[in-house]
Amino acid sequence: MRALIVEEPGKLRLADTDVPTPGEAEVLVRVQAVGICGSDVHIYHGNLVFVSYPCVPGHELSGVVAGVGPGVEGFAEGDRVAVNPTLSCGHCYACSLGRGNCCADVQCLGVHCDGGFREYLSVPAGNAHHIPDDMSFETGALIEPLSIGLQATRRGRVTAGETVAIIGAGAIGLCALQQAKLEGAKVAIADACASRLKLAEQFGADLVVNVNERDFLSAVEEWTEAAGANVVIEAVGIPETLRQTLDLVSAAGRVVVLGVIAEDVALPASMFVRKELDFLGSRMNANLFPDVIRRISEGKLRPEPMMTHTFPLDDVIGAFELASKGPDEAVKILVKP
Ligand code: MN
Ligand code: ZN
Repeated sequence: MRALIVEEPGKLRLADTDVPTPGEAEVLVRVQAVGICGSDVHIYHGNLVFVSYPCVPGHELSGVVAGVGPGVEGFAEGDRVAVNPTLSCGHCYACSLGRGNCCADVQCLGVHCDGGFREYLSVPAGNAHHIPDDMSFETGALIEPLSIGLQATRRGRVTAGETVAIIGAGAIGLCALQQAKLEGAKVAIADACASRLKLAEQFGADLVVNVNERDFLSAVEEWTEAAGANVVIEAVGIPETLRQTLDLVSAAGRVVVLGVIAEDVALPASMFVRKELDFLGSRMNANLFPDVIRRISEGKLRPEPMMTHTFPLDDVIGAFELASKGPDEAVKILVKP
């Protein structure tokens, strides 16, 4: 079978490797669709810590069960599945709270261990989730980013009628927007890219702000009559936007941080007390695949407009080159092995 291998930062190769044999409690998945995420591009360019090369990236994937290992129940060849890439130890403190997404030993398929840019991979059966027959594999590959959006709104305790400000309208910001709208919140979203903001409008954003034209903080102040947003979701990951969350948020508000920033950032610490803020990290998803699958099946989430490009596995390197250039119109690039 073929697999995309990042030999070392900057060097991709489509290689021939053996089809894995599913081990105890594992299922073998024939990958049908896998999305390129910002972190895959970072792995390609060597900008992500805790990655050892060579590796196979890819953590947003769906496919068909092609084999079941010993001790697996509830799966048969031909089943359509999406794969939750979060692997956890099951017994640390975080795991005991049902939060394996921030397990002390957490691993993400395609980041800490080999992922989905290949024709077949074996995963623990507990990480495979059935998807309905009428759900496309492309949509199945978007369950993972949608679960990150849902994790963010759950962490921020977004409820109906509240105001939410999202910084960044990339795939993750747009997923958080869709989930926040589903909760009945009013949502403002900012980006520097007009085509992404157009998608945000399609997904029901109440206020879209192009930061090339208008300052997000003054726009949100006007929109909330100076109160600030009850929940602020940071989906860019640069020091400037992290700092801005503390100005955007209302008193008694919540800040949810999705972006990963490698360096230390100075923050106006008095704000935490003055506004009595909850400052919350949000990492991957805590067993949210079933909720996301249900929301899509009920027609409440329509991820299709986010799929902007599709490539065959033969041209996966071209797909990564496109993702690296990061043109405005590329929101989610999918590869179909
Ligand atoms: Mn991702
Ligand atoms: Zn754990």
